[in-house]
Amino acid sequence: RGTLLVQVRVAQVSGRHLVVLAEDMTQARRLEAIRRDFVVNVSHELKTPVGALSLLAETVQEAADDPEAVRRFAARMQSEAQRLSALVHEIIELSRLQVAGALGPGAMVDVDAVVAEAVDRARTTAAAKHVRISVGGDTGVQLFGNHDLLVTAVRNLLDNAVAYSGEAAHVGVGVRARGDLVELAVVDEGIGISAAEQERVFERFYRVDPARSRATGGTGLGLSIVKHVAADHGGEVTVWSQPGRGSTFTMRLPRVPSAALLEPPGAPDQ
Ligand code: ADP
Repeated sequence: RGTLLVQVRVAQVSGRHLVVLAEDMTQARRLEAIRRDFVVNVSHELKTPVGALSLLAETVQEAADDPEAVRRFAARMQSEAQRLSALVHEIIELSRLQVAGALGPGAMVDVDAVVAEAVDRARTTAAAKHVRISVGGDTGVQLFGNHDLLVTAVRNLLDNAVAYSGEAAHVGVGVRARGDLVELAVVDEGIGISAAEQERVFERFYRVDPARSRATGGTGLGLSIVKHVAADHGGEVTVWSQPGRGSTFTMRLPRVPSAALLEPPGAPDQ
């Protein structure tokens, strides 16, 4: 960061003239480093559940004559397999979002429908903890984008709000139309995030408390996906939080993103 990396090539020598081509390599190097880090992180993250599964399989074999133990280990194998499947799903989702034009052709999206679908999907985990989810704010708001990606983003924020709140807590979803922007906020009264951690939670695989994230089935990719969905819509996501008091994640999305973000007409479907 801060250094300009330039690749210099002597392109032509004629008589006493020398043509030198200088190419900015910083961006290319940076992208390459991000890609390499991602592959290393993914391999590391996949190793944990795969290792656990293999260990559990061994243990089941050894405990073959104890049906109760077999049942217990089989249940743990199932939950590890579910974690692995969630992780693979999110890795694929994130790789797709990192490609330009991830928004697809886009359409006018009904924000009420996005919120309703996300709340509906988060309901099972919320009910298990007796967490109440309420929706408020402006209704009838529309924005140009991708319905499914927006549902995924709101769902990830809701899942976190539930996971990092106590039993019987309250989680709110608020929609506000502000000029050319639509604000979508998910508010919780959970454990909160310290100022130092707030800067890092959107990084891939970053967790404040890895043990807690694991226990709640977290993958460490949820907020990274939200960040990409917001960026693909030409917007952003920010966090306000106080440890012990709760967190508010707000997506600010333009009703219509700038032309540069939209797929050119006739571009092939991905
Ligand atoms: P995870 O799958 O671990 O939840 P995320 O990318 O969704 O991964 O979030 C990254 C980390 O940010 C979490 O592990 C958690 O430490 C913290 N975090 C996210 N949302 C909240 C929240 N609503 N309240 C408190 N901490 C949160």
